[in-house]
Amino acid sequence: KTSRTFHSYPSPSKLLLLCTLSGGGVVAYSEIQSDSGPPRIESNEPRKKRVVVLGTGWAGTSFLKDLDASIYDVQVVSPRNYFAFTPLLPSVTCGTVEARSIVEPVRNIIKKRKGEVKFWEAECVKIDAANKKVFCRSNIDANLVGSGEFSLEYDFLVVATGAQVNTFNTPGVKENCHFLKEVEDAQRIRTSVIDCFEKAILPSLTEEERQINLHFVIVGGGPTGVEFAAELHDYVHEDLSKLYPIAKDIVKITMIQSGDHILNMFDERISSFAEQKFRRDGIEVQTGCRVISVSDKEIKMKKKSTGEVCSIPHGLVVWSTGIGTIPVLREFMEQINQANRKVLQTDEWLRVTGCEAVYAIGDCASIHQRKIMDDISNIFKAADKDNSGTLTIKEFKDLMDDIILRYPQMELYLKSKHMLDVADLWKDPHGKEREEIDIEGFKSALCHVDSQMKSLPATAQVAAQQGAYLASCFNRMEQCTDLPEGPIRFRESGRHKFRPFRYKHFGQFAPLGGEQAAAELPGDWVSIGRSTQWLWYSVYASKQVSWRTRVLVVSDWTRRFIFGRDSSRI
Ligand code: FAD
Repeated sequence: KTSRTFHSYPSPSKLLLLCTLSGGGVVAYSEIQSDSGPPRIESNEPRKKRVVVLGTGWAGTSFLKDLDASIYDVQVVSPRNYFAFTPLLPSVTCGTVEARSIVEPVRNIIKKRKGEVKFWEAECVKIDAANKKVFCRSNIDANLVGSGEFSLEYDFLVVATGAQVNTFNTPGVKENCHFLKEVEDAQRIRTSVIDCFEKAILPSLTEEERQINLHFVIVGGGPTGVEFAAELHDYVHEDLSKLYPIAKDIVKITMIQSGDHILNMFDERISSFAEQKFRRDGIEVQTGCRVISVSDKEIKMKKKSTGEVCSIPHGLVVWSTGIGTIPVLREFMEQINQANRKVLQTDEWLRVTGCEAVYAIGDCASIHQRKIMDDISNIFKAADKDNSGTLTIKEFKDLMDDIILRYPQMELYLKSKHMLDVADLWKDPHGKEREEIDIEGFKSALCHVDSQMKSLPATAQVAAQQGAYLASCFNRMEQCTDLPEGPIRFRESGRHKFRPFRYKHFGQFAPLGGEQAAAELPGDWVSIGRSTQWLWYSVYASKQVSWRTRVLVVSDWTRRFIFGRDSSRI
């Protein structure tokens, strides 16, 4: 270690930098140049490496919770000074839980860390990977003095900025739909639902106008859309119908889904149970329909099978159709030749490809598997020395063991049921045990696995595991440089410093309303019904980031059981 001398305050920089933002505007960043201020302090301590973390969502918070902050100089930038427990956002839309019960201030989280972590409530507006700098701007628009623009230098940058809602550039969506991504979105929906009811019962309205105001439309049949529809249905039938008796029979909830089924990422049994339950509950599910525009009065959509275009009037629309790239990353991706992608491409160690010392975790990143797949294909090609196109079972098994040694993160996929069954690797079409393995068959199975892996879901589970993995690498940076623990490098000597990231799937839930939920658990195990709802309550209570939010959430659930949901418009 070299001992360095550094000056604490004031900043030695005399920089005035003009940086062009993605929107085309120009912003001036300046650092104070001053000869006054506290005297320079000389230190013989080696400078700690600077880690800048962007985002305090699932990925960023999980990284911070596990990082040993005493060995780095850690700075966190996020426009929100809290962590939000997103799986409970649909419950906030109807007041089943309160917004403040699902958020934890970032400062509460970092104050418990060993070592100092600095937090800046600001948005990163530009990443300059070549000069290892990020430019930030505060969003606090109160009438306070001082510039809110600053830049930070880093040795390591952890990008955990999540994603934004994808509107697919559908006209009118931004202006006329609600999204369900942030706590503020959920609060806005809660107010708007009550507005729809209050407006619908005014004496001046016709019957048709009442029906339009009480028509709630959800675009997107994924877990978020389904959970919101279920929450809204319960809210209407358990609470609002008693308070607005004339509205009770005219409320309508419609779900529009472009695919053939809702919850199509879940097991078929769950998806069909959800569709049947919604039908019984009177929630209309229109599958195979693509929304082409949304106005303040109606939604226009096209039926995929017939091409027929139809319009439906609405009182409120919630748009929940997947995720897209946030603007700062779009600009960054252009810098590093990833412009044609939706999310940042990383390798299995979560390092962003095409730049140095930048890591990306959570919804804003996806691991690129293509190179691994190509390597595996090449290993097989090389093993086929006599060009027969086949390998004996023993050769094949030895090769698989060798590959798993090199790419341990692939074990789950290479030994998966899909890989072995889909490729008919072991048995011929007549069900007879094969004596030799067809290399081409194996390669097409690899392509299948490749497409499966690309769809590593954008979930809190993945984000949290990536954050924890990266923190454990950072904590052992020195130790693993001396004693690398990773797999043997292909085509290079030595080992990788760390084991690659490996995702462990613990299952997923879909609450369906009426105290019923569905769960898909590891090992192809599916559970549906009331007992699953209780499992959901226990898992989500246990997953809270602090005892404070745990107590608040459980007391909100209890309050709802005893007194019902609150319908005040505040
Ligand atoms: P986020 O949690 O979105 O965090 C991004 C962070 O980056 C935020 O702090 C944000 O303020 C910050 N940020 C944004 N822009 C900038 C910038 N320019 N500079 C600095 N910081 C920035 N997943 C599950 O596994 N189970 C569920 O039940 C589930 N339910 C969900 C329900 C809803 C309604 C939603 C919206 C999502 C749900 N998810 C669920 C998905 C899960 O929330 C996401 O996958 C997860 O939040 C991704 O974590 P992240 O850290 O990548 O992003």
